[in-house]
Amino acid sequence: MAGTTGHKTRALLDWYSENQRGFPWRQTSDPWPILVSEVMLQQTQAVRVVPFFERFMEGYPEPAALAQAPLSEVLAMWSGLGYNRRALRLREAARQINDHGWPSDARRLEGLPGIGSYTAAAIACFAFGEQLPTVETNLRRVLSRWYGKPLAGRDLTEAAQEELPCGRAVDWNQAMMDLGAVLCKPREPRCGVCPVVDWCAGKDTYVAPRPQGGFSGSSREARGAVLRALVGRGRSTAMEIGNEAGIAESRVLRSLAALVSEGLVAKVGAEFHLPDG
Ligand code: SF4
Repeated sequence: MAGTTGHKTRALLDWYSENQRGFPWRQTSDPWPILVSEVMLQQTQAVRVVPFFERFMEGYPEPAALAQAPLSEVLAMWSGLGYNRRALRLREAARQINDHGWPSDARRLEGLPGIGSYTAAAIACFAFGEQLPTVETNLRRVLSRWYGKPLAGRDLTEAAQEELPCGRAVDWNQAMMDLGAVLCKPREPRCGVCPVVDWCAGKDTYVAPRPQGGFSGSSREARGAVLRALVGRGRSTAMEIGNEAGIAESRVLRSLAALVSEGLVAKVGAEFHLPDG
């Protein structure tokens, strides 16, 4: 491996300035759109998030708008994005922000509903300029390959802090994310065109874990279909929902039980509907 960390950082940031992905949430330092985008990005690919993000920001341009919105409306807006509990928690976070203002740093941001350490770091860095690494799966994979061993936990955080260039946290974090998404992919990374190949131990030193099982036929798929079937409907029986969703009544009932316990569906007698509150 050649040169110093400074040369590697410069090569990375030069590549990023030419190749960065122009997502709408990157055009602002307002914490609200950054929070919304980070919650949407938690389990969904960035390109899929874009239309949902744009619609959501039109409907709820500030925390107060989401804080006051009925859950049925929020779930209808979220429908299709999946992992619908995120919408419920995001509304709870909006209510806390609306009542008490924004937490001022990453540690306090972690106190908001649905906000883990990565999302808190991302908001603190991208909105409030806190100089800290945003440690997620892309960053883990790229750094592990640079260092030639699987990094995790404290080793990973320390490596990221070591690499983070002074005063350039926003660009560096986004550059690492883009490098991981565009070139240093989990499988078949494009080392031949990588700007930091001279400082990297190599792709074979770290193989990313396989993603979890498929979506088709999963309980997550069934819950999403049930929620979509309930959008725009009044109270409905499990059979009516099953007919609308095109899935067997036994799966509908299991999905409804889970959704009711999560607070995403309300039950009245033998009928179900999206919550009003
Ligand atoms: S050289 Fe290959 S393995 Fe190393 S960071 Fe670049 S794309 Fe990833």
